[in-house]
Amino acid sequence: MSATKESIIALPNAHLRQRSRRVAIITDDIRRVVQDMIDATIDWEDSRPHEVGVALAAVQVDRLLRVIVVRNNFDDKNDHTFTIFINPVITKYEGAIEEDFEGCLSVPDIYGKVPRYSKLRVRALDINGREFRVNVEGFLARVLQHEIDHTNGVVFIDHIKDNPKAFFRLKDDGHLEELDYEKHVSNSRILW
Ligand SMILES: [Zn+2]
Repeated sequence: MSATKESIIALPNAHLRQRSRRVAIITDDIRRVVQDMIDATIDWEDSRPHEVGVALAAVQVDRLLRVIVVRNNFDDKNDHTFTIFINPVITKYEGAIEEDFEGCLSVPDIYGKVPRYSKLRVRALDINGREFRVNVEGFLARVLQHEIDHTNGVVFIDHIKDNPKAFFRLKDDGHLEELDYEKHVSNSRILW
């Protein structure tokens, strides 16, 4: 049976704040987890009219493994191909720090303005266990920082938790509206 959007865990599940472990050997189990991550992301996207499932970390399907999958084409919902990063490491941060909106499949309907480096160098293993390196910038750099955070038990809202102006809610019409920080953020029992 393939994974679905119901396989994706969400806050307040405490696993999202735990560190994942390195993958020592790429076994059939690891390949199955990767396929589950892709299937769950696509199934989630099919249920969300205004959002694209751009990436996922293994912890989000409740497997504490340092594995992430990132969409190859963020602009075409029909392109279901992903790049797989096993044991990804950021080897260098470059460029300026920029704020932009970020969401997460494990934090439903909430968006935040998160500061991130605009350029990175990342090293990882592919699904065959071969090392590769990429230099990324812009939105892809943001996505990789967000996903590698997941492997370290960090959720995007943790970067902005003290910023009352940084939290937004996705409305049914697809627009973002600023959230009342006192009412819906700082005292939330779901988020923290
Ligand atoms: Zn996320």
